[in-house]
Amino acid sequence: MIKCKICQKYDIYDQGLCKYCYDVRFYLREIIDDYFKGPYSDDDIVNALGNFSWIYAGYPRFWGYYNAIINTIYHFIMNIDKDYITENDLQYFEFTKVDKRDILIILFESKTLETPKPGLTNTIFKAGKLTQILVKKIRNELITDKHDESNRKRFKKAATEMFGIVSIILTYILMEKKFEDPKNQWLPRKALSVFLTLVHIILKHYNDPEIPKEFSRDLLDEQHSVLKITRDGRLRIMLEMLGLTYITPGKTNIISNVDKDQKSLMLNDEMILLLERLRERRRARVRTRNR
Ligand SMILES: [Zn+2]
Repeated sequence: MIKCKICQKYDIYDQGLCKYCYDVRFYLREIIDDYFKGPYSDDDIVNALGNFSWIYAGYPRFWGYYNAIINTIYHFIMNIDKDYITENDLQYFEFTKVDKRDILIILFESKTLETPKPGLTNTIFKAGKLTQILVKKIRNELITDKHDESNRKRFKKAATEMFGIVSIILTYILMEKKFEDPKNQWLPRKALSVFLTLVHIILKHYNDPEIPKEFSRDLLDEQHSVLKITRDGRLRIMLEMLGLTYITPGKTNIISNVDKDQKSLMLNDEMILLLERLRERRRARVRTRNR
C-alpha cells in the first residue's frame, strides 16, 4: 500500500493523502478562503488567528519566506502613495539564502503580490489580495495623529491576525510544494504537528455536542513522532505554546494551561470556537460528498 505523500505514515484516503493530512489541507484552505472574504469573514475564525503567529519565528528553513511576505506587506502599509513594489524595493532578498525566484513564487501564491500575466517580464508588482486586506486594517490605526485606546486595540488585533494568517498561508503553500515534489521539498513539521493535533481533536469529538477544553498531551506527542520531530524540537514547541520563550513572552498560544499531572493540555476559548467552526465546515463537506 502506498503511503500518504505528506506524512508518509498512514495509508492513502483520497488524492494521495491520508485522512488526517487531507483534513489538515481542507481546514487550512477553509481558513484562508474565509480570511479573503475581508469584512465578511467569520469572526470566530479571524479571532483565533493570533494563536498561530509564533510557528515560523526563528525557524531558519522557512524564515526567509515568512519575512518576505511580512516585509512586503510592511512596504505597502508604510508607503501610502504607492500601490506597487519594484524589484529594487525587494532588497531583503539579499539577506536570505533562499532563491529569489522561489521567494517571488511564494509572494504570488500567498497573494501578497498580484501574479503578473504570463509572458510579461515584470519588474513592478502590484499588491495582492492578502496585502490589500491587511493594509486597510492596519494602516488607519497606525498612521494617525490621534491614537487612542480603540486604535490601539484594532491595531493589535490586525497585527496579530497578520502574523497568524501568514503562518497558515505559508503552511498551506509548503504542504502543496511537498505534495508536488516529495523528494526535494521540506515539510513544515512544526506547523503540521500542530494542525494534525487539531484534526485529531475534531475527529475525536465529531459527534459530541461541544469540543471539550482538555486534550491529552500524548496526542500532540504522537504527531511529533509521526513527523519525526526531535526531543529538542518537541520541547521548544511546548515552551512556545506555553508562552515561555522570547518569541512568545507570556502569551500562551492554542492552549491556555497544563493540568497538575502535566498529562492534559487545555485549549483556550478562541481555539474551541475555531475548532467548532471548522467541524461545521467538515460536516458540510461530508454532506456534499454523500449527495
Ligand atoms: Zn498523512
